[in-house]
Amino acid sequence: MPLLSWLASRGHCRHCGTRVSKRYPLTELAAGIAGGLIAGLSPSLLLACLLLLALPLLLTALVIRIESGKTDWPLAGAGLLPVAVAIVASLI
Ligand SMILES: [Zn+2]
Repeated sequence: MPLLSWLASRGHCRHCGTRVSKRYPLTELAAGIAGGLIAGLSPSLLLACLLLLALPLLLTALVIRIESGKTDWPLAGAGLLPVAVAIVASLI
């Protein structure tokens, strides 16, 4: 949805006309593709849920890292936690 509205408004704010950065629709697109792959390829519902929980956290940490060069460790850690649980769960 945010991707469609960005395209519909041609990358500008509907109210004040300010340009909206491409990073927003690109991040939405990346999240949509990654979420679709996780949902489609996960061998179990538990694994899919854990990875879908981690996705927005890790994606946000990645965008922050790319834009600022800094790692938001609390955010990255919060994203890595469900990944760690998924790895352990898939080993059991
Ligand atoms: Zn505006």
